[in-house]
Amino acid sequence: MPAYPPEPWRIKMVEPLRATTRAERETALRAAGWNPCLLRSEDVYVDLFTDSGTNAMSDRQWSALLRGDEAYAGARSFYVFEQAVRTFYGYEHVIPVHQGRGGENILSRCLIRPGTHVPGNMYFPSTRAHQELNGAQFHDVIVDEAHDPDSDHPFKGDVDLAKLKAVIDEFGPASIPYVSLAATVNMAGGQPISVANLTETCELAHSHGIPVFLDTARAVENAWLVKHREPGWACRPVAEILRALCAPTDGAVMSAKKDSLANIGGWLALRDPDLAEQARGLVLLYEGLHTYGGMAGRDMEAIAAGIAESVDENHIRARVAQVEYLGERLREAGVPVVRPFGGHCICIDAAAALPHIPRDEYPAQTLACAAYLQAGIRGVERGAVTAGRDPSTGENRLPRLELLRLAIPRRVYTRAHIDLVADALIAVHRDRDRITCGLTFDWEPQHLRFFQARFAPARGPSIFGG
Ligand SMILES: *Cc1c(COP(=O)(O)O)cnc(C)c1O
Repeated sequence: MPAYPPEPWRIKMVEPLRATTRAERETALRAAGWNPCLLRSEDVYVDLFTDSGTNAMSDRQWSALLRGDEAYAGARSFYVFEQAVRTFYGYEHVIPVHQGRGGENILSRCLIRPGTHVPGNMYFPSTRAHQELNGAQFHDVIVDEAHDPDSDHPFKGDVDLAKLKAVIDEFGPASIPYVSLAATVNMAGGQPISVANLTETCELAHSHGIPVFLDTARAVENAWLVKHREPGWACRPVAEILRALCAPTDGAVMSAKKDSLANIGGWLALRDPDLAEQARGLVLLYEGLHTYGGMAGRDMEAIAAGIAESVDENHIRARVAQVEYLGERLREAGVPVVRPFGGHCICIDAAAALPHIPRDEYPAQTLACAAYLQAGIRGVERGAVTAGRDPSTGENRLPRLELLRLAIPRRVYTRAHIDLVADALIAVHRDRDRITCGLTFDWEPQHLRFFQARFAPARGPSIFGG
């Protein structure tokens, strides 16, 4: 058995879960159009759909809620929140937003004009969607290893500087409003970027006058992985590595629903005062006043407390160790998992796990359904369904990675839950030949189609045939 260090917390409040029968799960999945995203959460036993907003808040965060100042303008809670972001992330101008995509919308609107180009280390669906809505074309400049589920590269989130240089040379710095980096890279399976590569990327971009913005949703997890994988950082506190990741960048977009242990909220942070003024103007239109940005005062208090907890070494050690434990159990049993393990999730290579299901029958979506039917576990497809269609050609994008992502909420599940997940997925993998067909679209939404799409088994009434 792989190691499982004890959690640095004990449980003070519980939320009952309901176990379901296989027959109940079949009924629920059919009603959900073979899309686990459309299940009701009460029909799910272990919910690994996302680690976003699903975290357990601490007693300190819950008590911070009561300190929320709900004044419309200039609430005390805003200044507490602003100070926490400045202290831990090091950016001067802090603009609150209701969640990460609110910040993406504002940053994209401020900087992107039709016909421009945005390079980045792989894409995130909502980030790229906002860039494309504003008329930019996205260019993936991540290292090739990121697309290879079997590569053991320790920093699959790194930028391939030659690819970035080629984009700059081809389109010219004037048509590149910014470089869009993420730490960690969610779509590659929570893979980190090294401090060295991030710094070099910023130097290259800055030498052409191009700013760099960082998606910091999981930058604390990235910092922890830097501590363990990048030479020279082993003895540094995670809080210091976090600041080193942010230091060379021009600003950040944050979903506080991830690292910051909150259930809702986010921010956009900038160094350039003029850009910050422009962004505050748009916050008024799309989010709320620039001192609450769509959050309640109590949300800002919970986030401020959560940021401080997120960089606690004991917290982040246990958080990443739980993820690694699940990965190690699956790997030991021969389930094809993406390595190295990411900071927030374990990804199963569905194309390798179900080689008999053709790519156009969505093996990862099919595996997600099988995991739910097996034990009420909900993961999410991160493959062709999520990648969507190319806006210019209308063709399906076919990414190399066809993954079932199991994202682990922070401080929510115990080792017994994680063992149940491992046992169920090992059983699904052992019996994979019983899955006789994949899925086809019944209904395909235009934007972020994975959320609301409905499917049907490609042949017969079930993915198990007959
Ligand atoms: C969740 C997430 C976002 C979007 O944030 P929301 O709070 O869901 O709007 C952006 N980037 C990354 C890497 C994320 O994980």
